[in-house]
Order: sequence, then C-alpha cells, then structure tokens
Amino acid sequence: MADCIFCKIAKKEIASQILFEDSRVVAFPDINPVSPVHFLVIPKRHVEGILELNSEELTSIQAAIKIISSLCRDGFRVVNNFGKDGGQEVPHVHFHVLAGRKHSWPPG
Ligand code: AMP
Ligand code: ZN
Repeated sequence: MADCIFCKIAKKEIASQILFEDSRVVAFPDINPVSPVHFLVIPKRHVEGILELNSEELTSIQAAIKIISSLCRDGFRVVNNFGKDGGQEVPHVHFHVLAGRKHSWPPG
C-alpha cells in the first residue's frame, strides 16, 4: 500500500534494522521502545488486521518470534493491538514483542 509506513519498511524503502526476514514477514525494532527489548513482526503483505493473516504468514510470524525471543530467557510478551478499541495506530498488522523487564497485568 503506497502510503503505509510498514509496507515501506518491508520493501526497504525506509531504512530499519531488520532482525528477521523470510519471504512473508520481517521483524525490526520499534522506533519508540517501551521495554529494553521491543521489536515488531509484520507480514510483508499489507493487511490491516490479525484476522486477515493466512496460515503461512502466521507460521512465519511464529518463527520470527521464536528466533528473536530465544535470547529473552526470562520471558517476553507478545501484543497485537487491533482496531480502535485495541489501540491500533498503524493500520498494517504487527505484533509487538516486549522483553527485558517485568511486565505488569492488566495493561492500560
Ligand atoms: P500500535 O499502537 O500497536 O499500532 O503501535 C504502533 C507502533 O509502531 C508503535 O509502538 C510505534 O512506536 C511503532 N512505529 C511507528 N512508526 C515506526 C517506524 N517507522 N519504525 C518502527 N516502529 C514504528
Ligand atoms: Zn502496509
């Protein structure tokens, strides 16, 4: 999608530190980290929400989370904000992976 910031990152039109990549997904650091480890995993295909992901993309997303978070021995949190009530700001589905500190529950 032309004006989507995450599509531009996936196509390398905007520079980012790519932490994981395969044919379907990329993972890169969040520009405004809220935890010592904070990266985003996105599909390369522009889809707005989690419900539109196909099984191949879900498999790749799980692989990205598995590989990068394997260094987070004390655990990690995966967050997907979906829609207005979910607090989604960027309309290209993404999974936050947070680690490096204790995370409380419930989130705000
Ligand atoms: P959400 O509220 O789940 O849509 O979160 C969007 C996330 O995208 C926020 O944590 C932002 O800091 C992050 N973000 C926005 N623009 C960029 C960018 N260019 N590179 C990396 N992360 C970004
Ligand atoms: Zn997009």
